[in-house]
Amino acid sequence: MLENLLSSGFSFREDEYELKTKYILFNSMLAILGVTLGFMGTLRMLTHYYTQGIIDYGATLLSILFILFLRKFGKGHYVPLAYAMAISSVGVIVYSYYISNGILNINAWFTALVIPIFLILGYRVAMYMAVSFMVVIALFNISLTETDTLNTLYGYVPLFLSVLFLHIYEIRFQQFAKLLTDANTNLEKKVKEKTLERTEVLEKQKNALRYQAHHDYLTGLPNRVWFQKKVKEITAKSNISRNSTAILFIDLDNFKNINDSFGHDIGDKVINITASRIKGCIRGDDFLARFGGDEFVILIDKFEGKNDIESAASHIISCISAPIEIERKSMFVSCSIGVSLYPDDTVSHQDFIKYADTAMYKAKERGRNNYQFYSTDMTELAFEKILMETSMRFALEKEEFVVHYQPQIDCITEQIIGIEALVRWDHESMGLISPQTFIPLAEESGLIIALDQWVMKTGMTQLKTWYDKGYNPGRLSLNLSAKQLQEKTFVSTVKSMLKETGCEAEWIEFEVTESNIMHNIQEAINTLNAIRDLGIHVAIDDFGTGYSSLSYLKKLPVNKLKIDRSFIIDIPENKEDAAITNAIIAIADSLNLTVIAEGVETKRQKNYLLENGCNYIQGYLYYRPMPADQIERVLQKI
Ligand code: C2E
Ligand code: CA
Ligand code: CA
Repeated sequence: MLENLLSSGFSFREDEYELKTKYILFNSMLAILGVTLGFMGTLRMLTHYYTQGIIDYGATLLSILFILFLRKFGKGHYVPLAYAMAISSVGVIVYSYYISNGILNINAWFTALVIPIFLILGYRVAMYMAVSFMVVIALFNISLTETDTLNTLYGYVPLFLSVLFLHIYEIRFQQFAKLLTDANTNLEKKVKEKTLERTEVLEKQKNALRYQAHHDYLTGLPNRVWFQKKVKEITAKSNISRNSTAILFIDLDNFKNINDSFGHDIGDKVINITASRIKGCIRGDDFLARFGGDEFVILIDKFEGKNDIESAASHIISCISAPIEIERKSMFVSCSIGVSLYPDDTVSHQDFIKYADTAMYKAKERGRNNYQFYSTDMTELAFEKILMETSMRFALEKEEFVVHYQPQIDCITEQIIGIEALVRWDHESMGLISPQTFIPLAEESGLIIALDQWVMKTGMTQLKTWYDKGYNPGRLSLNLSAKQLQEKTFVSTVKSMLKETGCEAEWIEFEVTESNIMHNIQEAINTLNAIRDLGIHVAIDDFGTGYSSLSYLKKLPVNKLKIDRSFIIDIPENKEDAAITNAIIAIADSLNLTVIAEGVETKRQKNYLLENGCNYIQGYLYYRPMPADQIERVLQKI
């Protein structure tokens, strides 16, 4: 309530401290003056100084009016009022002086002058004025006997009070100002410190983000984003300089096998070793990046001719294929490289990368461990790949697939001991398509399960027919994909298919690759055990290319090992392959397993195998895979 009165009814914000104090000071001084002058007016009336008394009363009225005006004015508009007060005080001082014949009973009016002067001219001037007024009044009182002392004292009181008020105001204001500045500097300091801290943290985060955005987490090499930027930049430069630029797209062959067999930690190590090998065999100017997985890319923008690129690619292939030793395990990694040239192959920087990728697929198709330059027909091939994936579903419905059969021979007795079912796609416009083209696609899309079941049913039906006709085709080998092994219903599907086709379980053998088993070893063991319990045989296909450890081999319910074709091709000349072949035969022997060699094409190969204890053979030397009717003719002759 008092606060409201003193501050003229305005409410002030925290930062309006100065304004608020001025209002309070102004208001209280007006009130003190009003009261003092009213009191003095009465005194004068009693002492018969009527005119002076009326003036004093008038002044009281004026101060009340001023207070009311102050309340009416907008916040901060006290200055005009201060002027009005100063002028009226001066007027009254002069007027009173004349009517009282120089008697200074006008002391209080000085007070009325000090206040507005303070508000207009500031503390210092007001204080000088107040003090000098007090001196002047004192001097007058000494020299002019007519002045009554009581009157003078009444004048002194408000003047003295105003000096006191002004002083208190100033001290408080200065204290407050100091407090404010201190708080302000403190705050500023803290803000500065915090800002600095924040900026440092932000800078660090920004750097880390920038690093992450442009680097591969595993190898620390530039990543896809950086590589794409680099390609854009270099191709723009090459547009001006007319220089050629090349991209080498490197993809490791069968890297999935390593991951599946040894786990991701070892897989990561292999990637790191490969990265540093590639780095070691390129020049400082070449830009190497990792696209993720087992894909690396190199941008080469300084080379003389295609020969340079060819030798770089061969060099990389040989660097990568040196054996990798991790935790006393030896691993062999090869790679396929696709090369595209700018601007020879394309003038679009996006296609530039894409074409290197396309060429890499070509290298894979060409049997891996080689490099291929991009050519326009490759894009058509890639397009065909997509087409194939969609039409494969229709092909299954339209029964466009056929099963060919390749006999397996005991070359001591020259008898057929079994027949492997190998699927082909009899495409209406493309003719017979090799499973090597479409099986990977079928695996990617999951269509492999339906396809394999179709092959299984067709093969079993065919086998039953042959047995019914009195032929002896031996066991039917069926290839199983990893996906099939993971199917929960697999064993029951096999059971019902045996029943449906009338096939005996003993007539059937499933071929599984090492990496397919290693993919999920415990699950595979369970499924294979259930299969063996039915009486079906199990063979490990492509043996020697995966990384199955002997301890696992002992646990697996396996009957047969199939030596992979890649070891057979160069025997007996290639001593390493010959040694591996012998080792596989020895393993099979010690584990009491049957062993068969696949891909036998020459007599020399056959003789070598026979000499070393492997008499089962599958290969073009005896028979190529053939349609059922041709096989029937072979079976008839036996
Ligand atoms: P695989 O199981 O290793 O089959 C042996 C492959 O070697 C067959 O190729 C066969 O034609 C070929 N081959 C046999 N003897 C010789 C030879 O003396 N010389 C040469 N150069 N090659 C020989 P194919 O029929 O092209 O099959 C390729 C692969 O496709 C198979 O390799 C198998 O992994 C897969 N595959 C074939 N049919 C099926 C199937 O019904 N289901 C599944 N899941 N995979 C299948
Ligand atoms: Ca096979
Ligand atoms: Ca094989």
